[in-house]
Amino acid sequence: MNVDLRSDTVTKPTPLMLEAMWSAKVGDDVFGEDETVNALEEKAAAMFGMEAAIFCPSGTMTNQIAIKCFTQPLDELIADQTAHVYRYEGGGIAFNSAVSTRLLNGYRGILTTEMIEPEINAENIHYPHTSLVVLENTVNKGGGACYTLNQIAPIAALCKERGLKLHLDGARVFNALAHTGDKAVNYGNYFDGISVCLSKGLGAPVGSVLLADKATIKYARRIRKVLGGGMRQAGFLAAAGIFALDHHVERLHIDHAHARILADELAGCTWVSNIIPVETNIVLFDTIEPADAVLAKLAAKGIKAGSTDKHRIRFVTHLDVHADQVEYVISVLKSI
Ligand SMILES: *Cc1c(COP(=O)(O)O)cnc(C)c1O
Repeated sequence: MNVDLRSDTVTKPTPLMLEAMWSAKVGDDVFGEDETVNALEEKAAAMFGMEAAIFCPSGTMTNQIAIKCFTQPLDELIADQTAHVYRYEGGGIAFNSAVSTRLLNGYRGILTTEMIEPEINAENIHYPHTSLVVLENTVNKGGGACYTLNQIAPIAALCKERGLKLHLDGARVFNALAHTGDKAVNYGNYFDGISVCLSKGLGAPVGSVLLADKATIKYARRIRKVLGGGMRQAGFLAAAGIFALDHHVERLHIDHAHARILADELAGCTWVSNIIPVETNIVLFDTIEPADAVLAKLAAKGIKAGSTDKHRIRFVTHLDVHADQVEYVISVLKSI
């Protein structure tokens, strides 16, 4: 049996999703004439209580556009040291926006006002002007750790008081919502920008949306064009996104249950030294042997996974990991 636990990006469109894509009504989206893209943008914005949205090829692009929209060159943004925008977007913060980054040490990537406030620079020509805070929910490198809206509200209040914008890298925000029980529509009260990936746990082949107010999204269309992200008959892809929002949100609790089952099993394995508590669909655990040696044993049994450190392995559950595959992984974990 083959099981791919490397990432929730490896999912392939389901037959029903493909059908929705085939039958999409499309037009030239650079002219604003693709009705399926327009429908996706309206739907996503409404879901999160935001005014407008823009469909982009990747979450990297939606995050980088947001940073560009919310900063000026020479500004500084605040993020956790694990942040995807800093670590995994190729240095785009400096390249695209000419902005520096103040990195904080959150708990599993989760920040608090107590951590953020002292790092906001005073008005002084020596210091870059702090203009943006970026949160990530769930935190990828934090093992899928979640913010609740109760944790976000004071950060949003601080940003408002100090004149900072607040952006959410919500690549896996639906996983956070499934875990916390918070309502998506309330997110719009707290963030200036929200990036949502359709191609992670939601199972679309391509695409992310950036949500913000109308003026920001108008400017974002300019930045997307500059980055080469203006797509033409993108409705075929947007249709997959709409399908994902309609059909693949409610099921995320299954992925979370699978992750918990795997973590429970790992807890009984003598070759595992530590497991990060599971909140969503990511399991991070430390191995006594080097991770590469364990990964090779798993690969020999048809199980793909990745390492995030010399002794740390990451399992990610998703739409294409079914209950029988979880059973199979458990049998292999017992045997190695
Ligand atoms: C995957 C991911 C993104 C966006 O990645 P793309 O591969 O560019 O779509 C952004 N933030 C986080 C936390 C992610 O996990």
